[in-house]
Amino acid sequence: MSDFDPTSLIHHPYQAPAGFAAPQIGVHKASTVIFPDVAAMRGRDWRYKNGYTYGLHGTPTTFTLEERIAALEGGTECVLVPSGLAAIAVTDLALLKTGDEVLLPDNVYGPSRELARHELARWGITHRFYDPMDAAGLAAMITPATQLVWLEAAGSVTMEFPDLNGLVQAAKSRGVLTALDNTWGAGIAFRPFELGIDVVMQALTKFPSGGGDVLMGSVTTRDVALHERIKLSHMHLGLGVAANDAELLLRSLPSIAVRYAAHDATARELAAWLGTRPEVARVLHPAFDSCPGHAHWKGSCTAAAGLFSVMFDARYPSAQVDAFVDALKLFKIGYSWAGPVSLVVPYDLKAMRGDKAYPGTLVRFSIGLESAVALKADLAQALAVLG
Ligand SMILES: *Cc1c(COP(=O)(O)O)cnc(C)c1O
Repeated sequence: MSDFDPTSLIHHPYQAPAGFAAPQIGVHKASTVIFPDVAAMRGRDWRYKNGYTYGLHGTPTTFTLEERIAALEGGTECVLVPSGLAAIAVTDLALLKTGDEVLLPDNVYGPSRELARHELARWGITHRFYDPMDAAGLAAMITPATQLVWLEAAGSVTMEFPDLNGLVQAAKSRGVLTALDNTWGAGIAFRPFELGIDVVMQALTKFPSGGGDVLMGSVTTRDVALHERIKLSHMHLGLGVAANDAELLLRSLPSIAVRYAAHDATARELAAWLGTRPEVARVLHPAFDSCPGHAHWKGSCTAAAGLFSVMFDARYPSAQVDAFVDALKLFKIGYSWAGPVSLVVPYDLKAMRGDKAYPGTLVRFSIGLESAVALKADLAQALAVLG
């Protein structure tokens, strides 16, 4: 064994000079946080951002990202979690208990439905589905057991845009909390807290990251008491995010508005062009009047995500639509959106929605940052396989 003593490499006396300043936020990585003395250790409260207690509960890097996401959403308090789905889960677990009921839109993000069916059900929390296009119907469903209503705008496959105002009023007038999955709006398309929504979650995986290389989620509120309920469950469940992931988010956030606009512009151009094609029966894009809820989109939004679906004419069997998808070259087959690469997924609506299925096969496009010219050429060559 070497007789080199590593202590000097662990307890080195050098301290870099204070006062380093740069626009970028430092990447602080730690489990242990060092307290100057016992009194400081006993005096710190992990719930607040006035000091540090343990890496899981926050570092300068994660505190800064939380503040910036709160600003993006128009809220005041935020917690970060390792995925968008974890953000939905911590919201449910923080706000619901045995005997409570949660109402989900019938076009809800699929894994949120599975979370309710499997995990919430095991804790004695029930759920029912409401039609997001029927605010009066939602009002009629609320019972004393109803404690939370989830909202999603637009629906992430069929793209219908709900009457958010009507849905929020239906819940609020009965004293029920509302939580919005704001992954589509991303804090850019509309201002959810101004509609009276209580909790806003977002899959930071999508637009805030923009790179397709980070999984993260956030839960933002404007209400300190509500935030503390969520923060407590967040702490009890041991949810935290990695500093390097937070760094990537901090780097991507300043460009979110210009990226959102670029995805939006190309998506609208391609959706309009697909709408002129004889193979396409219907374009489902909230900014187009062929989309259910277009008037609601117009009433609350100033932009749209680069996401839309088309219904192929019913004369094409789904195997032929699959062949179209397989023939695409720039569009890659895969889930998610808001990264540089355009993505495509065919959906079997009959399996997803039972008898509410739309006729024909649906294909969802998530438009990346490639040029509209290149993407249109790719679509055109793939449409040729439909004959
Ligand atoms: C992607 C997505 C999520 C989940 O985000 P992950 O980070 O992939 O877990 C939740 N809601 C919507 C609408 C999404 O698109």
